[in-house]
Amino acid sequence: MSFSALGISENYIKALKELKIIKPSPIQEEAIPFLLTNGTDFIAQAPTGTGKTAAYGLPLLARIDPKSPKVQALILTPTRELGQQVAKQLFKFTKYTDKIFTEAVYGGAKIEQQIAALRRPTQIIVATPGRLIDLLQKKALDLDTVKTIILDEADEMLSMGFKKELTRILKQATAKHDTWLFSATMPPEIKTIIKEYMKPTAHRVTIGTDKVNKKIKHQFIVIDQSEKLNMLLHFLRQMGNDRGMIFCRTKASAKSLVEELKAKGLSAEAIHGDLLQKERDKIMRAFKKETLQFLIATDIAARGIDVKDLAFVAHYEQPDQVEYYVHRSGRTARAGQEGLSLSFVTKDELKQLNYLQDKLKIVIEKVRI
Ligand code: AMP
Repeated sequence: MSFSALGISENYIKALKELKIIKPSPIQEEAIPFLLTNGTDFIAQAPTGTGKTAAYGLPLLARIDPKSPKVQALILTPTRELGQQVAKQLFKFTKYTDKIFTEAVYGGAKIEQQIAALRRPTQIIVATPGRLIDLLQKKALDLDTVKTIILDEADEMLSMGFKKELTRILKQATAKHDTWLFSATMPPEIKTIIKEYMKPTAHRVTIGTDKVNKKIKHQFIVIDQSEKLNMLLHFLRQMGNDRGMIFCRTKASAKSLVEELKAKGLSAEAIHGDLLQKERDKIMRAFKKETLQFLIATDIAARGIDVKDLAFVAHYEQPDQVEYYVHRSGRTARAGQEGLSLSFVTKDELKQLNYLQDKLKIVIEKVRI
């Protein structure tokens, strides 16, 4: 199957090629032809990193009237990181087509600047739910002309506590619009949103009933707490030039781990809630440009990150929740590549690891380094 066969026009295909997006992924095969030809609601359950931005982005761009300066679509994302990524992808898709203006707005940045930016013609708004509410209250935008609302990583938005904001936005969007919902998991709260705010005729697709991407190799090593750091260093040194992410449970441990790794001369930085947006952007740029090899992150700070070609994810500390393991592991083996998800566990944590295996129906293989 090709993008052309799915109904995507040549000018988009040319831009996709430059992004090395040549062959449609399963979610793209399912979503694109449907969304291009049907004006209704759409619900997709698909793991992260499977190409959903293009799956909804391409049909969305096709719906936008470039001649009208009005806001025609709203994309809600759980984090500013994901929001910025989505906006950037859409911009790249339109390299050879009519210009379509997308603005990303999110908390943690100056609202006045965003309000000023929104005075320019903007056809697509990408927003985190909290900031969108603030902007609506300040009357910086209205949703009356919005024809499409996309909920990206809907489960993440709820787990980040955006339920109230989300329902408020969906209630307020009175104009006749279609809602497209994308989520890796379908917890009861998502089902409630679907029931209350989406059309009963919504089209549903599920991509890969397994939550965890099959291309990920799961491994663990058992180790005493006192030896953990040395073992991690040993593992990282074996990695050659391969890049990866190392997960900690708390800000404090991310901060202390990055100091340890830097002291040993490794190329490492940490992202966590205490960073300024500027600092965080700088680190993410370095990591994407491959001038930074190891990125240490907490679960919250890592949400929505998409960095290609990561060879591994290391769980230096076990995740608090099963879903976190899914999201952490999803940072590797993206876009059809293979990847390693390696857990560093003490004997006491083995029970938790077994629980993960059962819950996610995956095999985590014991290894020695
Ligand atoms: P997403 O799930 O949209 O965050 O996409 C994950 C990554 O896969 C992004 O870096 C995309 O550029 C890339 N990607 C999306 N679709 C494809 C495709 N059909 N072939 C190769 N890479 C893709």
